[in-house]
Amino acid sequence: MRPYIIANWKMNGSFDALDEAWGIDEAAGEYRDVDVAICPPATLIAPMADELSYAKAGAQDCHQAESGAHTGCLSANMIGEVGGTLAIVGHSERRQDQAETSAIVAEKLIAAQKTGLEAILCIGEPLDVRDAGEAESYVCQQLAESLVGDIDPAMLTVAYEPIWAIGTGRVAGESDIAAMHAACRAQLVERFGDVGAGVRLLYGGSVKGENAPQILAIDDVNGALVGGASLKAETFAPIIAAA
Ligand code: PGA
Repeated sequence: MRPYIIANWKMNGSFDALDEAWGIDEAAGEYRDVDVAICPPATLIAPMADELSYAKAGAQDCHQAESGAHTGCLSANMIGEVGGTLAIVGHSERRQDQAETSAIVAEKLIAAQKTGLEAILCIGEPLDVRDAGEAESYVCQQLAESLVGDIDPAMLTVAYEPIWAIGTGRVAGESDIAAMHAACRAQLVERFGDVGAGVRLLYGGSVKGENAPQILAIDDVNGALVGGASLKAETFAPIIAAA
């Protein structure tokens, strides 16, 4: 499976940051057997999409509706119109800050795919759920509830991101990542049949150049969704190289 390394810039990056995107694109050109994407703030999708040669540009979210009275939101079609080719849906920060339920996430995923965008679905458990020993059932339920309706598995990537590992410097243990990815894989195969075996499963949460080789070597880890370390080409390129 082709590895997939995705940068999630979150609410970081002004026009100056485009230089970092060009550096990332250079690294993507160097490692052409790796798929690379950058999801900057929405204001930077168009200028990035215009200039990137090897990496794709995408959004960190999209609205489930095609248009209408949704102040401050962007439809999947608008993202595609400026050259974005993917949208992250269900990131834990949006599930928390914007109270997005898995039912809403499922609608966003379908809306993204309907307009031709790839959907990057995020799932992951909070610390109290992990401590209670219920991480696997929690994440599998999130996965099931976020994959409702007419979904194209060929346009789907799933990112497992334990919430307590995001931006904290804490990484899930290798055996925990392997167990979670195996559980997600089994569920994807159950949901989509053989094609489910080809859906890429990414890990996210404090991935850095230093830990990327170990994380990416784990069974069924097909890439990474990277926040902090993706803001600079200097720190992101080693993760692409490790894939
Ligand atoms: P992080 O963020 O790499 O800074 O932990 C990952 C994410 O939220 O996608």
